[in-house]
Amino acid sequence: MPTFSVHAFFSNAPLANLSFGLGTAFAALPQLWQFAFAIAFGLIVGSFLNVVAHRLPIMLERAWRLEISEATGQAAGDDSLPERYNLCVPRSTCPHCGHTLRAHENIPVLSYALLRGRCSSCRAPISVRYPLVELAGGALAAAALAVYGPTGTALAAFGFTAALLAMSAIDAETRLLPDSLTLPLLWAGFIVNFDDTFATLRAAVAGAIAGYLFLWCIYWLFRFVRGVEGMGYGDFKLLAALGAWLGWAALPQIVLIAAVTGAVAGLLAMWTGRLRFEEPLPFGPFLALGGVVTLFGGMPIFHALGG
Ligand SMILES: [Zn+2]
Repeated sequence: MPTFSVHAFFSNAPLANLSFGLGTAFAALPQLWQFAFAIAFGLIVGSFLNVVAHRLPIMLERAWRLEISEATGQAAGDDSLPERYNLCVPRSTCPHCGHTLRAHENIPVLSYALLRGRCSSCRAPISVRYPLVELAGGALAAAALAVYGPTGTALAAFGFTAALLAMSAIDAETRLLPDSLTLPLLWAGFIVNFDDTFATLRAAVAGAIAGYLFLWCIYWLFRFVRGVEGMGYGDFKLLAALGAWLGWAALPQIVLIAAVTGAVAGLLAMWTGRLRFEEPLPFGPFLALGGVVTLFGGMPIFHALGG
């Protein structure tokens, strides 16, 4: 019977030979250089994730309004955006004055420090979220290299955590977890685990199903008992994606970390007056944190319970 292996499939392609060559060259570098390259790469990816987090919700809203106007025959209205608006075009501008960022104002973290957190044109403060997401990108790349070494697995781990970072930034800002991010992440989890990379394929499929169903049940329980909606469907899809990447056995630890850190953050936010009691807290960043900690730190809670 012919068997199919993702690894064999990709290693036949010319692109794989090139990436294999690059991978071998990278692995031959001294370790200090590997980390320097990984951190620089992570900072640049973090800078791109800022663009994704800022623009993707705007792009989705525009697409949504166009769809409504097509369905109802009414004009879509003007959204004051240029006609071509996507993740690459136009160049980044200051949201206050429209000043187009020059190359030296677009360097991760460094530009923010040199500009002292203010726009060079109108002096409006730049959100500290930008350098924080960039720093997080650098830290995740370094962690992936430290845990998995100079391997394709490290690259996959970084891609996974970078996607979680973008989703966390979007959820924190807009309380949305777009399907255009959660669903591809779910599929990507099945593809990387085709060769049992982070979990067996069986554990990955079970993890995706259990992750979705678990939060779906909690959601309906809350609606039934208290008549409130504690989270959104995006949270179910995100936990399904985490299950697809890390396997079903990782789910209890992820949910526990998310629940505890989410509760602490919620209490702190209420205490400092930044959140009212009835306001729901975006849950995505805490699920993502649970996923990242489990990926890099293993599953001590699962093993302590005899797993
Ligand atoms: Zn400005």
